Amino acid sequence: MDASVPMPRAADLLAWYDRHRRALPWRAEAGERPDPYRVWASEIMLQQTTVTAVKPYYERFMARFPTVQALARAPSEEVMQAWAGLGYYSRARNLHACAKAVMENHAGRFPDTEEGLRALPGIGAYTAGAVAAIAFDRPAAAVDGNVERVITRLFAIADELPGARPLIREKVLALLPAGRPGDFAQALMDLGATICTPRNPACGLCPWREPCRARIEGTQESFPRKAKKKAGQTRYGAAFVLTRADGAILLRTRPAKGLLGGMAEVPTSEWRADYELDGAAQDAPLPLRWTEVPQPVRHVFTHFPLELTVFTGAVPAKTPAPAGMRFTPLGRLAEEPLSGVMVKVLAAAGVKPTGLSA
Ligand code: SF4
Repeated sequence: MDASVPMPRAADLLAWYDRHRRALPWRAEAGERPDPYRVWASEIMLQQTTVTAVKPYYERFMARFPTVQALARAPSEEVMQAWAGLGYYSRARNLHACAKAVMENHAGRFPDTEEGLRALPGIGAYTAGAVAAIAFDRPAAAVDGNVERVITRLFAIADELPGARPLIREKVLALLPAGRPGDFAQALMDLGATICTPRNPACGLCPWREPCRARIEGTQESFPRKAKKKAGQTRYGAAFVLTRADGAILLRTRPAKGLLGGMAEVPTSEWRADYELDGAAQDAPLPLRWTEVPQPVRHVFTHFPLELTVFTGAVPAKTPAPAGMRFTPLGRLAEEPLSGVMVKVLAAAGVKPTGLSA
């Protein structure tokens, strides 16, 4: 390494943060003590979801569950419903389980160390580091995608992710200031989100422009280096939107474990790469004349794209629901924990109650 390049200093980043910190609904004002519950809930929501997408959900969620006690006591359907639309539903299940564990095992107070936090459901290395640093001012490293980008650029780390993670963590720990570790963690996140962006980083405004090796080399956008991911194979299936003459829609609840666990859905076939539409009638919840909607619904999950062919059907008002299913009146559909893909399926079938958005 070129000895004439200065070392990055936490003090420069903190001075920048003091002037440019983002005002976020879950962030305490300068000098205020952060509420661990709010910090934790926001960090869980922000995993794999952008700040812009999280903001309205966060505000609604906090209005509905203002404390960890309120969240722990809520029925799981209510939590899933408040989460619906944020995706990655195992996070909502873990969030609920974690709130219960905090009430039952920690008398309603979050543990204040990384190790204590990591022992809770749904809290991995990143979240434990972030909550320990932000809520409790512990000298912890919170390394998310934004931080990975800043650090790999700053030190021109050519190793590919995910293998480079231990080195990135080491670099963050070496940069930690003696005081204000919580502000340092948030400053790094803000720098990655607002200045050191994936495309066209605003290096001219960056407090670390002088020590940044990628900027000196002009190679900013080549970092972080990533190992190639194999794209998942597309899965196919059939979805059945059954309307009763009184307007109610047939729904069921997915198993608690697995993809979209605990969420509400219209009955569907299995989702498989080799699904044959010719046999779809056998997967229908009732033997009826089903009408195929011309355009299939496409949705991309983390591990695979899904294509569902939608069928619509109608039954008389008094028809009972098949075992394990229920008819939900149209006016109450918005209260069901419907996932994004199910909202799309209903929309494709012409069902769009107020309060739902695809
Ligand atoms: S100088 Fe540019 S590339 Fe380097 S950390 Fe700052 S914004 Fe990122």
